[in-house]
Amino acid sequence: MNDRVRLYMFDGGSMCLPRRNAILGAANGDEMITCPVIWFAITHPRGNVIVDGGNAAEVAVDAKAHWGAITDVAWPIFTAEQAVVPSLERVDIDLTTVRWIIQSHLHQDHTGAVAAIDRFPNAQVLVTRTEYEFAHALPTFAAASYVKADYVKAGIDWVQLEESDDGYDLFGDGTIRCWRTSGHTPGHQSFEVTLRSGETYLLAADAANTIDHLEERALPGFLMDAVETTRSVRKLRRLAWRSEATVIAGHDAEQWPTLKHAPEYYQ
Ligand SMILES: [Zn+2]
Repeated sequence: MNDRVRLYMFDGGSMCLPRRNAILGAANGDEMITCPVIWFAITHPRGNVIVDGGNAAEVAVDAKAHWGAITDVAWPIFTAEQAVVPSLERVDIDLTTVRWIIQSHLHQDHTGAVAAIDRFPNAQVLVTRTEYEFAHALPTFAAASYVKADYVKAGIDWVQLEESDDGYDLFGDGTIRCWRTSGHTPGHQSFEVTLRSGETYLLAADAANTIDHLEERALPGFLMDAVETTRSVRKLRRLAWRSEATVIAGHDAEQWPTLKHAPEYYQ
């Protein structure tokens, strides 16, 4: 039944930000780094899935107007062709076949698909209830990283996962499991993708910004909760050991070039 399951990894441009924002304790605020923005699509016989979707298309037009104050800290390098709709069209994924948009969290570089919800008439948007509620009632210290224009609007069919849903199996066939990995944000989740080849990819998203973070050689400079962040990378390592998964870090400039990028895919 699942002979058409494919995992695509999309180049969503990159982001320039101070090294100290990426790595906790990196003191020099002048040193800038560039990290990739990545997102995923998984094809499945019962409907296709987008994971996050990178930046909203509007960011390619006028990043400062769309993202606001965060552009003083993090600047996107992003073209119109890297947005979710043209990217899916290039790999022949019909937008009407998208059944799920699944959100690791709702930061501004992960909301490109929900921002284009009008183009996905058959999609529900899956997020943890914790992240949904946090993103709709933001404390001021966290507000700059959330662009409400992308996800506070009519026409979004939200599905909210409870804490008791940890490990939620999206299709009921083990292809995609949703694991809570809070810390970077309160309601962050990561996705375990098992392909028909038996290969498993653990899409950490920002629960492990880099492989250094995954291995606890560095903590990210931007996080909501350091204790939860550390628990979550340990959970990711445990899950990856269990299924012999390859962990895909959220923004790793060294790992990203080693992976297959769309239009190539894993299956
Ligand atoms: Zn984030």
